[in-house]
Amino acid sequence: MKLLRSELAGGIQHKLFDIPTDSPVLDGLNFYKDSIRCEITSEPIPDGFKLIGIISIPFIEICDRCLEDYRRACNAEFELWLTANDQLISATEADIIWFPYTMEEIDLNPVFHDLVALEEPMKKLCKEDCQGLCPHCGINKNKHTCTCETRQGANPWGALEKLIR
Ligand SMILES: [Zn+2]
Ligand SMILES: [Zn+2]
Repeated sequence: MKLLRSELAGGIQHKLFDIPTDSPVLDGLNFYKDSIRCEITSEPIPDGFKLIGIISIPFIEICDRCLEDYRRACNAEFELWLTANDQLISATEADIIWFPYTMEEIDLNPVFHDLVALEEPMKKLCKEDCQGLCPHCGINKNKHTCTCETRQGANPWGALEKLIR
């Protein structure tokens, strides 16, 4: 996704962009659509432009507990500064991208790829109360029931106790 300096100078208002999900940079991540929708508004700042917007990421995740695929639509807000001011570059509060006056356009794909990767959660659950897989027979307990636990819980001395009585 490239933005022209002239386009930024004119101002961008809630413009929609599609970032293809088949980029090799996004390898290892899975999506249920072939693009990531991105809405951008620009504002002038000293020596550059501020971009604010939202990316809508159609993630396919694999549940940590039951190992099934599930869809997760993720909307992430972002703020990026494109600037030719090298004093800002050393600041760390916002995502700041070097955009010197000699550059007529800027390719934002790498930046958005990073944003997408950051939205991958550490812990993935298809639902809050996912029952996971049975540790004994491996069945998906959200879909099926098994008798492993009741068998495990049975008292092995039960038969003996009956004999004693
Ligand atoms: Zn699950
Ligand atoms: Zn089982």
